[in-house]
Amino acid sequence: MQFPQWPRKAANNFRRRFDFHSLQFQLTVGIAAMSILGISSVTLGIAWKLDDLIISSHKKQVEQLAERFGESVEIYSEMMSVDEAIERAIAYLATEETSIWVARPDGTIARSPSLARGGQDRLLLVADRQATAIPKVFRIREGYWTICAGDLQVDARTVGKMNIARNITVDRQMFRKLLWNLSSVSAIAIGAITIAIAFYIKKSLQPLQKLSQLTASFSAEQLGKEQLYLDSAPSELHQLENAFNQMLDRFHESWEHQREFVSDVSHELRTPLTIVSGYLQSTLRRGSNLTDPQKEALTIASSEADRTVQLLEDLLELARADSGHLHFRKEPVLLNDFGSEVVEMAKQYNPDRAIEFENTSELIEVCADFNRLKQVLLNLIENAVKYSPSDRPVTVTISRDKSRGVIQVRDRGPGIPLAQQTRIFERFYRLDEARTRTTGGTGLGLSIVKTLVEGMGGTVSLRSKQGEGSTFIVNLRLIDSKI
Ligand code: ADP
Repeated sequence: MQFPQWPRKAANNFRRRFDFHSLQFQLTVGIAAMSILGISSVTLGIAWKLDDLIISSHKKQVEQLAERFGESVEIYSEMMSVDEAIERAIAYLATEETSIWVARPDGTIARSPSLARGGQDRLLLVADRQATAIPKVFRIREGYWTICAGDLQVDARTVGKMNIARNITVDRQMFRKLLWNLSSVSAIAIGAITIAIAFYIKKSLQPLQKLSQLTASFSAEQLGKEQLYLDSAPSELHQLENAFNQMLDRFHESWEHQREFVSDVSHELRTPLTIVSGYLQSTLRRGSNLTDPQKEALTIASSEADRTVQLLEDLLELARADSGHLHFRKEPVLLNDFGSEVVEMAKQYNPDRAIEFENTSELIEVCADFNRLKQVLLNLIENAVKYSPSDRPVTVTISRDKSRGVIQVRDRGPGIPLAQQTRIFERFYRLDEARTRTTGGTGLGLSIVKTLVEGMGGTVSLRSKQGEGSTFIVNLRLIDSKI
């Protein structure tokens, strides 16, 4: 048997919309619960008090009527017989709502006209069995009655059992209606209060959300240049904002120390390592009497030394860019010629790979530093070659997009997952350590590409689909462009 899917989907949607652990949700529910409790208890209190007032006033009236009936019978009996006195008192005091009847010792009953019409057997029965001298409310069929009963005495002699019953159904119905109206108004008030509270809390928490968004989007490059700023926020959040900014200042200070340290260490290590690498290569070249294991060890040592020198070069380049000491010799660069020259060079480095070049007949001249741009393009081609299967071609395309010259490097490799695309240009960020370790990279190449392109006033972006490959796109300002 197949269960319908919609309840689960609706529950998931609800869960996604409402974060049960959020402060907003918990405050709203808490205050709404308090107002429900508060308004309901006030409503119930009013209802209970009102009911009590109505009932006790009816009981009082019935009690007074019982007293007056006794007195009237006593007075009339001085002028006529007791039976006539009872009949007269009933006729005088009974109304449509108030029934009076007296059961005489001989079993006969003197009753008011409303009872004489009949149909009130149940009232008579209940009164006979349950009524007392203290008035009580009874539910009889669909109506409510306040009834009291007691001995009727004339000259200290019991002449019968007196019953007085007052129909209070209309008042009870009115009270019910009033209670219903009161409950409806309370429910509407609770709903309106809850909605108002939800909006108010949402608005009050907005600065907190803004603070977390600002903090999340704060990058290392912004350290020391920008600070968090909340325009209209409660003073507690301004305190938090200040604390954040002080923390950012401390981060900036230690970030600067770290940059200096990296720059100094790279500088100090580069020269001796370059010498070591030189000696290793010359030993390998001249070492005709070396054994095979020795040659292999020296080859590994030499390539690792080269890799480390490259890493130090990259770190120094980034440190120079960070401290604003990276200078660009900007000049007009004809992308059509530049592209074909760099692609030829890349083909020489990678003779076994198909590297295609797609040029355009339109001349595209951008403003850039030729050597730095070469470094960028070689780096992107190098990555495309490294991270795509060797039987798939790499394509370099030159084109124009409005006021921009565009260089695209496309591979047909595994692609880069969407979640990692924004992080790919970060320093030392490598996709999958296991996959990229074998390629021997450092994770600095793309951050250098970004630094260099942005230093030349351009942008670099990535378009990638998993399983289809990646395209890195460099945009540079055209020479005659004002934008
Ligand atoms: P690396 O020295 O590791 O190549 P990069 O900064 O050049 O450092 O690249 C960072 C990471 O991005 C690489 O480790 C690799 O995982 C991923 N990457 C770069 N280019 C591509 C590409 N064309 N296809 C797939 N992954 C890539």
